[in-house]
Amino acid sequence: AVEITGLKKSFGPLEVLRGIDVSVRRGEVVCVIGPSGSGKSTLLRCVNLLEEPTGGKIVVNGVELTDPDCDIDAARTKIGMVFQGFNLFSHLNVLNNLTVAQRKVLKRKPEEAQRIALRNLERVGLAEKAGAMPAQLSGGQQQRVAIARALSMDPDVMLFDEPTSALDPELVGDVLGVMRQLADEGMTMLVVTHEMQFAREVADKVLFMDGGYVVEEGEAAQVIGAPRHERTKSFLARVL
Ligand code: ATP
Ligand code: MG
Repeated sequence: AVEITGLKKSFGPLEVLRGIDVSVRRGEVVCVIGPSGSGKSTLLRCVNLLEEPTGGKIVVNGVELTDPDCDIDAARTKIGMVFQGFNLFSHLNVLNNLTVAQRKVLKRKPEEAQRIALRNLERVGLAEKAGAMPAQLSGGQQQRVAIARALSMDPDVMLFDEPTSALDPELVGDVLGVMRQLADEGMTMLVVTHEMQFAREVADKVLFMDGGYVVEEGEAAQVIGAPRHERTKSFLARVL
């Protein structure tokens, strides 16, 4: 579970997050929507401390990441992140992309890391690509490898930052399908997305961010289907 309270983040004079509360319960899928520049990526980057919050509190599975005594590296291994770009290691084949952090960070033996990697490649439907190099894969396949790589670390929570927005339209469905399957398996997920249909069908809760705040939150059908706030309405009118 993720509990974020009063999260603030500024870059110099620019206040990007002005006091954000988000809670993702175990097994829940929370989708974050909002206009470009509203701080969605910054929110996710704060959750695995790629950005240091200016204020507020972040607790992931009982561990307070914002506690100065927190072992950030240990905590981070339990948080999987998938970005818009695929961020695979281009000089390593698919299998080695999935085993390197398992061996270096989790100290798993090579055989164990391989077994776990292959199981996760199967989960995303790419077991037959274990020996391929990233450049030989489509964008959608690369993104599914990135998901399998994150899963191989046994995360408690998965963060997704617009994982399909760099993909050709015909490749989007496969990646969303894998995410949907993960949600069905009970993975706890915080997902920034422009895919309103996905949010509507998969999210337990949707948050609309604008101007550094969560402007509106609620059940997906309500926030997307019957938004209450003017800013949510005008955003949805532009994207739907
Ligand atoms: P998009 O939908 O375009 O991805 P976003 O909601 O993810 O937008 P962020 O990337 O979180 O928005 O950026 C929010 C604001 O913070 C923007 O004005 C951005 O320019 C600024 N910002 C983000 N990272 C930095 C940084 N490292 N230094 C300075 N400003 C930053
Ligand atoms: Mg972003």
